[in-house]
Amino acid sequence: MSARAKKSPRRIIPIIPVIILLVIVSTFSLPVHHSPVNTPQLPPTGITWLTKPLQQVYNLIQSRFIGLIPGNYTEPSSSDYSTMSTIFGLIDTAVSQNDAGSILSASNLATQLNYQLIPVNDSATGNKYYVLMENTTVNRGWGSYLFAAERSPLTTQVIMEAPHPVTDFNSQQIAYTIFTSAYPDVTTLLVSGVERTFGPNGQTDMAHRAQSIFETAHEAFTKFGSVVIQIHGFDAANHPTEPLVVLSDGDGGINGALQSIASNLEAANLSVGIFDGFTHEKLGAQKNIQGRYARAFGAGFVHSEISSIVVYNATLLTQYENSLTQSVLNNFGFPAYQIDIKIPIIALGIMSFFLVAGYRLSKTRPD
Ligand SMILES: [Zn+2]
Repeated sequence: MSARAKKSPRRIIPIIPVIILLVIVSTFSLPVHHSPVNTPQLPPTGITWLTKPLQQVYNLIQSRFIGLIPGNYTEPSSSDYSTMSTIFGLIDTAVSQNDAGSILSASNLATQLNYQLIPVNDSATGNKYYVLMENTTVNRGWGSYLFAAERSPLTTQVIMEAPHPVTDFNSQQIAYTIFTSAYPDVTTLLVSGVERTFGPNGQTDMAHRAQSIFETAHEAFTKFGSVVIQIHGFDAANHPTEPLVVLSDGDGGINGALQSIASNLEAANLSVGIFDGFTHEKLGAQKNIQGRYARAFGAGFVHSEISSIVVYNATLLTQYENSLTQSVLNNFGFPAYQIDIKIPIIALGIMSFFLVAGYRLSKTRPD
């Protein structure tokens, strides 16, 4: 081989670490969360707001779960499903496009299905919400749906879900607390209208039924890149070896939202277990219907099982709620990612190593 041909590979050597550096920097730079510069989109004008404490409206919802009070879970018809789907779509449009007309259309459609869409101006906070709940004249157990009337400037759409109210202790109130505390970063709160075990054959277990209005709502709001957080509770007496919180994405994997939540819980000194396909299997939510849908559509699913030890301890519960709220408000970033300087230093270190190695290699290799 000629000397000229032998020279060229050496020139390539310094380029390799530069490429590696660029790859490292670009990869690690992605999760860095910059503060949003744009302000939240305000709710549309031309809507009549009911000013009262949102918690009061939610208390009414919580007092009407079938199972807690007598009632009959009614299977929706195919036209009920399509009407509800249209209503959810209109609400989504109303909030994302600041369109009062869509709220009025959704409200009219809701009336046809014995639902009411109430624009609530929460007198406790001044925050605005849309509440979609059944008229008090009916109780079919189809669930209640709450929406922040403002769209968050953050791009991640976050959905809170409580598919097992009452059965999973106070899961519906825990979900509500995170929903309202992270306003307006949690877009939607979905709450089942019926106790999990009310139907003898699992008909009212919303986390495991492929067809329900709850699932229709889940499908309407779960999109690529959105995050779904589902709140459940387990009895510590039945699971004595489990930690205080068990997180799962439903298939033994992990996602950024789950990791961020786990990190915040651990920082608050709450013990956390993550279902990895084997450990915490009983609380791993492998058959969760909403989880399957979320994963199929590229959304991050976080199934959170809370021990009764946390639920019945006000301090621990506040720590749990604050950790999740913080994760949402931080757009699921990690505190470590905010210290950007670390990553370039590591990258620089790696690059220097390659440069020195490349240089030494070129020096020691005879021409
Ligand atoms: Zn549950």
